[in-house]
Amino acid sequence: MTELLPIIQLGNPILRQKAKLIDNIEDENIQKLIDDLVATVSKSNGVGIAAPQVAESYRLFIVASHPNARYPNAPEMEPTAMINPRIIAHSSEVVKGWEGCLSVPGIRGLVPRYESIEIQYRDSHGKLQKQQLTDFVARIFQHEYDHLDGMVFLDRVESTLDLITEQEYQQQISKKNA
Ligand code: ZN
Repeated sequence: MTELLPIIQLGNPILRQKAKLIDNIEDENIQKLIDDLVATVSKSNGVGIAAPQVAESYRLFIVASHPNARYPNAPEMEPTAMINPRIIAHSSEVVKGWEGCLSVPGIRGLVPRYESIEIQYRDSHGKLQKQQLTDFVARIFQHEYDHLDGMVFLDRVESTLDLITEQEYQQQISKKNA
């Protein structure tokens, strides 16, 4: 049975740990964790979720870009589990964009990220996948990847002036981009 998992929030020390590599992707607990993360992220209006956010300190996240109430302009894709992911190469271009986090409710920040990245990861069947990601999906990957190293987007903003509340974001920014 797929379960919705409680999401831990900023201040919980698990969010600040370096997550462990997964050796056995076939393990039934890992397979269940993947299914539960997919269900949890879609229920939460998220576009990504990392295992440490549900207090499971493993190198696994879901990238699940789709337009929703929190990200109305997000591109549509199938939710994809990425296990033991790595960034192989990245563009020199860095772009700033607005991010939020299910573990940091109520706050948005303007975060610099590489515009495009070349990545590899194991999929839920253990198969090695290599991809080039750009723009918003590249941003999601980099955000989730940081969770595996104990970082959150607040650590990446250049100034506290680049932080705003979710309510102001919805009123000022989201409307402008729609
Ligand atoms: Zn996050």
